[in-house]
Amino acid sequence: MTCAVESIVRRATLLGAAAIAITAAATPAAAQASAVASHKATADRIIDAALADTTGFIRLAELVDTHGHRLSGSASLETAIDWLAAKLKADGLDNVHTEPVMVPHWVRGAESAELIQPRRMKLAMLGLGGSVGTPRGGITAPVVVLGSFDEMNRRAAELKGKIVLFDVPFTSYGETVQYRSRGPSAVAKLGAVAMLLRAVGPFSISSPHTGGLRYDTTVKKIPAAAITTEVSAMLRRLQARGLPVRVKLVMNAQMLADAPSRNVIAEVRGREKPDEVVVVGGHIDSWDVGQGAMDDGGGVVAAWEVLRLMKRLGITPRRTIRLVAWTNEENGLRGGIGYARAHASELGKHVLAIESDGGVFTPAGFRIAASDSSMAIATEIAKLLARINAGTLIRGEDSPDADITPLVNAGITGMGLDVGESKYFWYHHTDGDTIDKLSSREFTLCVATMAVMAYVAAELPEGMPRRVVPGAR
Ligand SMILES: [Zn+2]
Repeated sequence: MTCAVESIVRRATLLGAAAIAITAAATPAAAQASAVASHKATADRIIDAALADTTGFIRLAELVDTHGHRLSGSASLETAIDWLAAKLKADGLDNVHTEPVMVPHWVRGAESAELIQPRRMKLAMLGLGGSVGTPRGGITAPVVVLGSFDEMNRRAAELKGKIVLFDVPFTSYGETVQYRSRGPSAVAKLGAVAMLLRAVGPFSISSPHTGGLRYDTTVKKIPAAAITTEVSAMLRRLQARGLPVRVKLVMNAQMLADAPSRNVIAEVRGREKPDEVVVVGGHIDSWDVGQGAMDDGGGVVAAWEVLRLMKRLGITPRRTIRLVAWTNEENGLRGGIGYARAHASELGKHVLAIESDGGVFTPAGFRIAASDSSMAIATEIAKLLARINAGTLIRGEDSPDADITPLVNAGITGMGLDVGESKYFWYHHTDGDTIDKLSSREFTLCVATMAVMAYVAAELPEGMPRRVVPGAR
């Protein structure tokens, strides 16, 4: 090719490139969006394969039956982590390793609650996570039943030396959980000696729900425990009839020194941009009740299945898809924070973070925190999930799930698998969180939903545009 022609060609090429850049520049999201449609065939293949494969659900049962619940600091959490890492290696996934994280080590100890007056009755109860214990022999005191913080303020003078019961019916988790987290210190400030809480759940068959509290460190820590919705409502009725109510609460909970734990990592390395990452994950720890099957064993194993499916189908996306099984989500978030710290230098190359921590019931789509352009792309990808009714995106400002919060705060698009109006909060943090509450079919639908979103996001020419976060990398 002669130089004159060469220079013309070169200029044309530059122009051409410039033209493409302009077009792409003009509407990169539009260009990206149309690129999505080209992945429909692979997306359908992924969905079909996921729905036909029960391996993941069988493994979930094995995880929770073999290791049981997995509270931070417990031996069962660490054996479950060893089990998971060994299985990931056996699946031939890439870069399988664990990353150390120190976690809080709260232990429940023996606990009980008994109605003493107006009659004797053993009460089903669960101490709240992180609670202090009672003095030896327990606390026996009159109970005051309150329906809200407002009523607390109105009746502040009555609370000194009392056990305060917040009997607050479940409205939404976000609203009702306030009494679990802030209630103990709020009533301690007013002289209460202990707090009882109507279990934070919309349904009960004498099933108390545990969960973390957040002490105000400027106030004396008092013991706090959940009782069932049935008994809580009964104590309110007894009080309304003017009957004196007294309860004896015994708790031997204590906070031990932090303990070593680990996040678990595995990957399907990207073929073209291996340093760019799509994270998919869930938390491997649970509260010390039930089997931690839906919270969050199902989320971890469904995310694991996303990678195993790629491998099984011989799909190597453009970017890396990385499984993260975070430790310590329930009472400290040390795993999520630890991951972001350990990977701080590469967060600029994380293009999407997907978490499942809402149960593996029938998926409706995702809760999402994203920029406008990223939202436009996610909306296109969600269309590929319409055939399994999992293409609904619910946009919010905050991170959709806890463990990915540090990543979302760093400007990465965050998605939380959304399972709509499921029974998640029926069993949440109860002894009823067991594998029999879940179905293989619904589980595979969750795998398909996360796999398609992760795959297409990992395959797109350009990564998901970042959210604008002041001070983010
Ligand atoms: Zn959870």
